[in-house]
Amino acid sequence: MPTTTDVFSKARTHERVLQLRAAREIDAVPYFRRLESATAPVVEMEGERRIMLGSNNYLGLTSDERVLKGAHDAIDRYGSGVTGSRLLNGTLDLHLELEEELADWLGTEDAIVYTTGAQANLGALGTILGPGDTVIVDSGDHASILDGVILSRAKMRAFRHNRLDLLEKRLQQAENDGGGILVVVDGVFSMEGDVAPLPEIADLSERYGARLMVDEAHGLGVLGARGAGASELLGVEDRVDLRMATFSKSLASCGGVIAGPTDVIDFLRIQSRPFLFTASAVPAAVGSALAAVRICRSDEGRALFARVLDNAAYLNAGLRSLGLHTVEPTALPDGSVVATPVVPVLVADDWKAALLWKALYEAGVYVNVALHPAVPPGGALLRTSVMATHDRATLDEAIATFAGVKRAFEAEHGPLPGPAG
Ligand code: PMP
Repeated sequence: MPTTTDVFSKARTHERVLQLRAAREIDAVPYFRRLESATAPVVEMEGERRIMLGSNNYLGLTSDERVLKGAHDAIDRYGSGVTGSRLLNGTLDLHLELEEELADWLGTEDAIVYTTGAQANLGALGTILGPGDTVIVDSGDHASILDGVILSRAKMRAFRHNRLDLLEKRLQQAENDGGGILVVVDGVFSMEGDVAPLPEIADLSERYGARLMVDEAHGLGVLGARGAGASELLGVEDRVDLRMATFSKSLASCGGVIAGPTDVIDFLRIQSRPFLFTASAVPAAVGSALAAVRICRSDEGRALFARVLDNAAYLNAGLRSLGLHTVEPTALPDGSVVATPVVPVLVADDWKAALLWKALYEAGVYVNVALHPAVPPGGALLRTSVMATHDRATLDEAIATFAGVKRAFEAEHGPLPGPAG
């Protein structure tokens, strides 16, 4: 009899698996729910009408006829897939057109398109960084940034979310590490929904000779007059060395991009393994993303950015007025404030978050649930998000549903965390 441990044994005993089983027993698993319609302000989910407050389709473009035409035309011309990597037979003229359009929109020398946003982070960080370098990350950075760092084998130094004093401390420590230094932050944090203090981060990065990369996944197509993201909104586009964005949010598709100087982008083209050793983005994804970028760059784009931000402020204020703990809209240097489409509701306790999710779901509102490690331990939250296409009546209905569910939930389980600040 072999005495080795069965590598499958953790599949039966892992804490997450046990939690999943316990939640299944009372039908309170907030994950893998079956969507039976297009993602829209109101959807069909598991046989019921539900208000969708959990989509990253910020501009509502996934059903826009021009975006659909972009996908259909690409399929008609190039087929369903390219069946090859970008390096070999997988580069279409459409990929190159999209890269040119994105670089032009973001005002960078060059851009490289990956098959997903997560791969863009893996590919950029795993290639630009190496053993001997130091990368400094905000504790709220997206998981794919952390995975890219692991891939690179660079030294990682993390600082507590948005704490500039701790960022400076990490920079001082990194100075003694001896290699190159890269600071990487989300422009809009995917769970917290706040905007990074990029001017101060750029000041510190410059002072310590570090390069700066910003993940604009949730800012692209939402923030800034051109919709170019948090870097544009905060006036630091020319101080950010590399920008990452994904097509799976405002751009209503799937794919990712790294935009920056040609020498760095060329290095990624020839050296980035998550770019080289995978099939290129399928024609429908590229065609739809390209159509969505063109809408963003038109006057209509500006109207959509304004509408999604207006809805974000409305939902944030509505949930706050119920006594829920959501993110404070971010104060900008010009004295204005901005609430992003990511509106988290802190619950703190994992189990309560699942139960609150279930009550909302049964009352006809779908939201996302984020538990550790997506958030810090004890930071369980319901992640709500709005689209430009939500109308006021639907948001009012969702807020009223939250009010009723909160009242019944607190009567049974005790108070939920109150407003921040
Ligand atoms: N960065 C951030 C901040 C994200 O929120 C996400 C997706 N949730 C990604 C990267 C990865 O993008 P994609 O889903 O396109 O792979």
